[in-house]
Amino acid sequence: MRALSEHNKAAHEAISAAKDSPHWAGVACDECGTEMLKDGLAINLSNPPTQWVKCPGCGFRGLMTMQQLEL
Ligand SMILES: [Zn+2]
Repeated sequence: MRALSEHNKAAHEAISAAKDSPHWAGVACDECGTEMLKDGLAINLSNPPTQWVKCPGCGFRGLMTMQQLEL
């Protein structure tokens, strides 16, 4: 098991990397079938949590329900 400080360091590095690169949502656009991108890193802390995703092809946006909190 890694120490808390090691976990936090790795988490910060992962967050920095995610900000620098497009983050694929793993779902296809309802409108055109293009793979969607997470629209920023903000997560809506609803229950269950949701996140905005957008289509790079046609601009369609939607809320994606998340099964667990992740970036
Ligand atoms: Zn689309």
